[in-house]
Amino acid sequence: MNLVETVISIIAPHKCIICRINGGLLCDPCRLTGLSEPPARCYRCHAASVQSQVCQKCRKHTVLRHVWVASDYQDTAKELLHRLKFERTSSAAEPIAAAIDNILPDLPPGTLVVYVPTANSRVRIRGYDQAKLIAQKVAKRRNWPYQTLLMRKGSSRQVGSGRQDRFKQIESALLPVKQGNIKSANILMIDDVTTTGATLEAAAKILKSAGAQTIDAAVFAQPV
Ligand SMILES: [Zn+2]
Ligand SMILES: [Zn+2]
Repeated sequence: MNLVETVISIIAPHKCIICRINGGLLCDPCRLTGLSEPPARCYRCHAASVQSQVCQKCRKHTVLRHVWVASDYQDTAKELLHRLKFERTSSAAEPIAAAIDNILPDLPPGTLVVYVPTANSRVRIRGYDQAKLIAQKVAKRRNWPYQTLLMRKGSSRQVGSGRQDRFKQIESALLPVKQGNIKSANILMIDDVTTTGATLEAAAKILKSAGAQTIDAAVFAQPV
């Protein structure tokens, strides 16, 4: 919590956005009923799949093995993300991390939690990187190691929005760091929201090229 938020939390503590009774922006009971978890599916083509595994057809296009999604991008999920990204409410990362924790299966001990860094210009405006906050909280809940393994080059900005454009932009905007730690690692990437998955795919390709053994991802929300 930054200073401004600490002051606000004393004057007007965050109440649950659904029941308006409990504290914590989205309380545990309301999180379980207020978010709509999509069925297990391939994130890319939405075909049903066991454990949200990437389907055989889509495996040709990505090195990602599983992409778990905690909620459809609507209603409560949308509101939480809006607060986190545009209202500087960093405490929204807590129920978001709880929702991701809730849908994740057991993964091998030592699974490395990483995040896909947000464009530097946006981090400057917000005062924090929301994906980093969420990743740190998920790692803490699971007792998994957390590391920064990707960094942004300069102040690259998103231009196109198609899958290919996005993939190329991200691929050229990210750099692997701490290559020794990437080698042979089982990696879980965390992100706040994904649409086509192009950002995750580009980040996964970089980590794979740097020697990662397996790469899965967990995101909070995906549009229906
Ligand atoms: Zn509530
Ligand atoms: Zn698929």
